[in-house]
Amino acid sequence: MKIHEYQARDLLRDGGVPVPGGDMVTSVADATSVAKRLFDEGTSIAVVKAQVHAGGRGKAGFVKVVSSVDDVTKAAEFMLGNRMVSPQTPPEGLDVSRLLIADGVDIERELYLAITTDRMRRTNTLIASAEGGVEIEQVAHERPEAIHTVPLHPLDGLRAYQAASLAYTLGLHGKQVRQFTAVCMQLAKVFLGTDASLAEINPLVITPATEAFPDGQVIAIDAKFNFDDNAMFRQKAIAACFDPTEENPDEMRAKDAGLSFVSLDGNIGCLVNGAGLAMSTMDIIKLHGGEPANFLDVGGDASQEAVTEAFRIILGEDGCAGVLVNIFGGIMQCDRIAHAIVAAAEEVGFEVPLVVRLEGTNVEAAREILEEASGRLPTMQTATDLEDAAAKVCAAVS
Ligand code: GDP
Ligand code: MN
Repeated sequence: MKIHEYQARDLLRDGGVPVPGGDMVTSVADATSVAKRLFDEGTSIAVVKAQVHAGGRGKAGFVKVVSSVDDVTKAAEFMLGNRMVSPQTPPEGLDVSRLLIADGVDIERELYLAITTDRMRRTNTLIASAEGGVEIEQVAHERPEAIHTVPLHPLDGLRAYQAASLAYTLGLHGKQVRQFTAVCMQLAKVFLGTDASLAEINPLVITPATEAFPDGQVIAIDAKFNFDDNAMFRQKAIAACFDPTEENPDEMRAKDAGLSFVSLDGNIGCLVNGAGLAMSTMDIIKLHGGEPANFLDVGGDASQEAVTEAFRIILGEDGCAGVLVNIFGGIMQCDRIAHAIVAAAEEVGFEVPLVVRLEGTNVEAAREILEEASGRLPTMQTATDLEDAAAKVCAAVS
């Protein structure tokens, strides 16, 4: 599960990480009044930031650093009135309905700091770079040596000496070292305490020297968190941050029906039972030159109504040129799937080719049901095994 930047900033602030002040707004009028308050309180720059579950906002023009209330109003009008397109959004972009109006900070250096799970090492890992900011993907790609990683001890977590040593590696000095170390320790605590799978601050900035802070201040000005969905039952505060408007509507619909649906870029819709079978179904489609449009896992004991809903979702997807049903009935009974196919045929109609491979519990009953309904299923072909099914569906859509 993802949350918005303004919510992530609250988590960091509550964890003790220095974060500039600001407020989330949903209208131009509110953006203007928050800006008035910030400038009245003495800020000299403000930042207007689109709150969407995608990065690359800076380059897309959806992070604007401005120095007057008027410019905040203009930036808010632009962001709330246009869709944001970045390499991390779908091609048609994302609608922006929330903005963060924040205190701006002067920047001397931009660092990258994150914690995530390193599956190869099987530990949580701190990741840092002296070259943070909007080019971090390019830095990671072209000069991986500029990215530093520190594994966290499974029981002791991050130890202060590791963070301090990292500070020197990044070229920090004087009072910056202690501030950076504190931020790392706090980030590690928030990461563990919230069952996060990613906690990222990019950039973590160092402000220019002032009289009060001769070595500058270490401040987080962007934050991105992902969480383990399976932990949400014990993370009520995090779960409450969930914003359904940021999710794929078909994936939400499937979730409501107790199904698990993942939308992909190809044109073959896949209805399967079990994640492992879903993976091998997609592999074999690709092996035969096809591209899956999605996979919908009906699980073990979905009701007939849920399976019918599954077909509605798959057939309603743009660009679905064919459907492959691949069920290995263990707990799931094949006849239930067959009934749902017939129900979907009556309700929505299969205009695209349908290839069905059923095996396992009640398969004979299922075959009879499909045989009987074959008049209403003119585009249906049955397959003898997975290989045959993939070959047939790929041929049918090409
Ligand atoms: P992202 O592009 O979606 O990652 O959005 P960020 O919040 O990271 O902002 C992108 C870039 O805008 C940062 O790397 C900074 O260079 C700049 N930026 C953001 N906030 C401020 C700020 O308060 N002051 C200044 N001077 N620049 C900022
Ligand atoms: Mn950023």
